[in-house]
Amino acid sequence: PLVLGIETSCDETGVGVVRGRTLLANAIASSMDEHARFGGVVPEVAARAHLEAMRPTIERALADAGVTLDELDALAVTAGPGLAGALMVGVSAAKALAVALGKPLYGVNHLVGHVGADLLSGEGLREAVGAVGELELPTVALLVSGGHTSLLLVRDLVGDVEMLGETIDDAAGEAFDKVARLLGLPYPGGPQIDRVAAEGDPQAIRFPRGLTRPKDLERHRYDFSFSGLKTSVARWVEKFESEHGGDPEHPLPVADVAASFREAVADVLLTKALAACRDLGVPRLLLGGGVVANARVRELARERCAAAGVELRVPPLSLCTDNGAMIASIGAQLVMAGHAPSGLAFGADSTLPVTEVQLR
Ligand code: ATP
Ligand code: MG
Ligand code: FE
Repeated sequence: PLVLGIETSCDETGVGVVRGRTLLANAIASSMDEHARFGGVVPEVAARAHLEAMRPTIERALADAGVTLDELDALAVTAGPGLAGALMVGVSAAKALAVALGKPLYGVNHLVGHVGADLLSGEGLREAVGAVGELELPTVALLVSGGHTSLLLVRDLVGDVEMLGETIDDAAGEAFDKVARLLGLPYPGGPQIDRVAAEGDPQAIRFPRGLTRPKDLERHRYDFSFSGLKTSVARWVEKFESEHGGDPEHPLPVADVAASFREAVADVLLTKALAACRDLGVPRLLLGGGVVANARVRELARERCAAAGVELRVPPLSLCTDNGAMIASIGAQLVMAGHAPSGLAFGADSTLPVTEVQLR
């Protein structure tokens, strides 16, 4: 089926077009620059930007795919989780289109969409991914971005997805952004820390790995926590400044702090993800979300998966960050599985649980 997917859960207005598992277009407009001076995504600003970007992004996706609205078999839209006001713009646009065109509409779970990204193939896409063959199930999925840090067990993409664990405070990307700010690096902090860390020693400072003590593991085996890590970096920098502040002989070792922080995040992410693979006997790990761009996260994922005999799957970065194609991909799966459309009564649900792949 030919499906157009709309994604507006955060700061990307994404519109993708797929035919089954074939990617035809993935148009994206981001309001990231508008949030830079606030150091994080501002919901009101994001919602307004979606409103402005919606029409041109839909038009661009259709043009890139070389299809018209009339040819579509179905529409799909992110129904949640995400920022309420941002989600509402996408859901309203999708409903308006569905009514005007008389086409079925599917309200889709954003997190499951991140997994759906891995199904897609297209010109040059599989080559970029490096993964051979199709995604087999079950798989463990680690989704890490500015808004979420979640570990999922996916047995069936359109019917059986389970949340194993998630962050109990900050998301990993959020921690990158906050620590970058602390180090005087611009927003978004993830790419900045990654760049600076390349010159640093990851063993220079031993920052804490959240929720990994035996006592924590009992209740939070697959959960994450990054706010203690962020505080620990802040304390370290404060202590350094109080001892050496203003001393030109002792500038803040930004590269070492960045490298040590990045190591702590990568370590805890992959320790927990591979524990899940081992505990559940699942020989597959799929990564998704903007933090997958992180060089150390990718490297450690390769190392640890190889050592554990776990197949690692990483979609190309353009499909790891928020996009409309991944939503269209789930929409196509729902159509192919014979699921009834969502109708027009559903609304955006900012806290939609991952067990609800489709909203009704
Ligand atoms: P959502 O949580 O809904 O997916 P988002 O917009 O926060 O939305 P993405 O756009 O997927 O998520 O990712 C953005 C996040 O990824 C930011 O927090 C950014 O700092 C982080 N990020 C991007 N590149 C890197 C990198 N190289 N290393 C670490 N973090 C990175
Ligand atoms: Mg984003
Ligand atoms: Fe996302």
